[in-house]
Amino acid sequence: FDQQDGWIWLDGALTPWAEARLHVLSHGLHYGSSVFEGERAYGGEIFKSLEHSERLLRSAEVLDFEIPYSAAEIDAAKRLVIAQNGLVDAYVRPVAWRGSEMMGVSAQKNTIHLAIAAWEWPSYFDPAERLKGIRLDIADYRRPDPMTAPCHSKAAGLYMICTISKHAAERKGYADALMLDWQGRVAECTGANVFFTRDGAIHTPTADCFLDGITRRTVIDLARRRGFEVIERRIMPDELGSFNECFITGTAAEVTPVSEIGPHRYQPGDVTRTLMEDYMAEVQPRAVAA
Ligand code: PMP
Repeated sequence: FDQQDGWIWLDGALTPWAEARLHVLSHGLHYGSSVFEGERAYGGEIFKSLEHSERLLRSAEVLDFEIPYSAAEIDAAKRLVIAQNGLVDAYVRPVAWRGSEMMGVSAQKNTIHLAIAAWEWPSYFDPAERLKGIRLDIADYRRPDPMTAPCHSKAAGLYMICTISKHAAERKGYADALMLDWQGRVAECTGANVFFTRDGAIHTPTADCFLDGITRRTVIDLARRRGFEVIERRIMPDELGSFNECFITGTAAEVTPVSEIGPHRYQPGDVTRTLMEDYMAEVQPRAVAA
């Protein structure tokens, strides 16, 4: 992945893709002082770009470092990367980390770096294929207590348990894993939020110890605009058998139906279908009035 053609924005300058490197003694690599974003451009425009830039800045603040660019500057850099690489439908990956000046837990003086990469990511999917749904395992690891980890930061270090959990699920033939939280409540998947339906209402876990996804908030708004009742609450695993539909949301997942979680079966229905369509309409670039 590091030998492609194209340009990566690194610390203020467009850099040839293969030359966008960092030193092996970077604090971000040794101590996990790294935060990132995952965004998508549809038709050449990044969906909710400013929200992602602001979340990146907040994620860094939670890890006690300050990215030396404003949200507006990060937005402009992302647009430059999209344009320079000639991208239309794309995935955008900003990442910020502490550099290599000091090696040790304390890194007060280390330079903060920021890189932005983007690559083609087609957005079309076959709804009939997607409506078959994905199968989820239940992960062994749990989302940590907010007193244990900076759980509202999109911090690279928090993905350690996600990768382990996703690999374990994939080895068993599942697409992904549903993670519980430190109290044993249903939390989220390894890179997406989760929703359920019962009696026409939509239920989703309260985002009190995991990422409150930008897609999650978008889908909640879309659902309410449609007149669906959306209930954010504590959901225990023993309720998983009582829901009709299940879907996950995320920048990459968009709205993806779930057909199974462990022994439980779901049938993607009207709510999932409606929100899949509404979400795809929502992410399209707005026509600018002449
Ligand atoms: N939870 C986790 C752990 C994630 O990695 C993501 C993807 N960023 C999400 C939820 C969904 O967030 P968003 O909708 O902002 O992409």
